[in-house]
Amino acid sequence: MHQKTIKKETSFEGVGLHTGKNCKVTLRPANIDTGIIFFRTDRGNMIKLSPFAVVDTSFATTIGYNGTRVKTVEHLMSVLSAFEIDNLFIDVEGPEIPALDGSATEISKIVLQAGISIQSAPKKVIEIIQPISFEEGKTKITGIPFNGRKFSQTIEFKNHFLGKQQISIELSADSFMQDIAPARTFGFLKDVEMLRQHGLGRGGSLDNAVIISDDGIVNPSGTRFPDEFVRHKALDCIGDMYLCGFQILGHIISERSGHTANVKFLKKLLGSRDCFRAYSLSSETASPQYIAPNFLEQQVN
Ligand SMILES: [Zn+2]
Repeated sequence: MHQKTIKKETSFEGVGLHTGKNCKVTLRPANIDTGIIFFRTDRGNMIKLSPFAVVDTSFATTIGYNGTRVKTVEHLMSVLSAFEIDNLFIDVEGPEIPALDGSATEISKIVLQAGISIQSAPKKVIEIIQPISFEEGKTKITGIPFNGRKFSQTIEFKNHFLGKQQISIELSADSFMQDIAPARTFGFLKDVEMLRQHGLGRGGSLDNAVIISDDGIVNPSGTRFPDEFVRHKALDCIGDMYLCGFQILGHIISERSGHTANVKFLKKLLGSRDCFRAYSLSSETASPQYIAPNFLEQQVN
């Protein structure tokens, strides 16, 4: 198993879901051991990906450093996790990653069109070796050992068009493209006004979100899956877990989670050294090469 980047530079642009601003993203190949680095090109500032770079988790995952922010990184991160991209420069012109159609399908196609390049260095991973849980109110996220990458998600809403939905997926590029990537962002009609008052959801429309009212799905085209909502929650969770920049080998079981709980769980996992080990997946050596993940030494903003 080797590290990966993309073969050639590629770009996409569109409106940000929350800021409503037009933003352009350029993905550029990066050398081995670079990790994932965001540049706000309109500000001249860099944000190195890490769970400690997360500065806001209300309705989207926002990373930042020294006052410069990039909002709504989770769908792009989900795609990078599914395709196991380890090294990448992400230039962002504007405050937010474009929403496109509210799912991860378009970003996936853009990355696949750029091509995935296998690099000469072994991939670094985090393996969960002891069960670990984060619990807050009705939210619970548990990580348990598993030989692969597995995500289970449960949502439970009072709205009877959503109700209780569950999904379990072993993550691969194929399973992601088929079962997770097409699932769109969703929200409740009754929350739209509240979001706008908080300066959020300004770019939201029926073209990039599924809107649910008490009477049903507002979008004339309906849903892409009957359980599109839990699939999108899994998409978000996959993206948030990749904020550490390492693939996590294990089974992540999330109940009623959101970005805030995802990031808290991830930080708890990384702070629990007896629950995981980090190593290089070198096929040339019989035993794993253990490493000290550098994000543990990174400063909290
Ligand atoms: Zn999302």
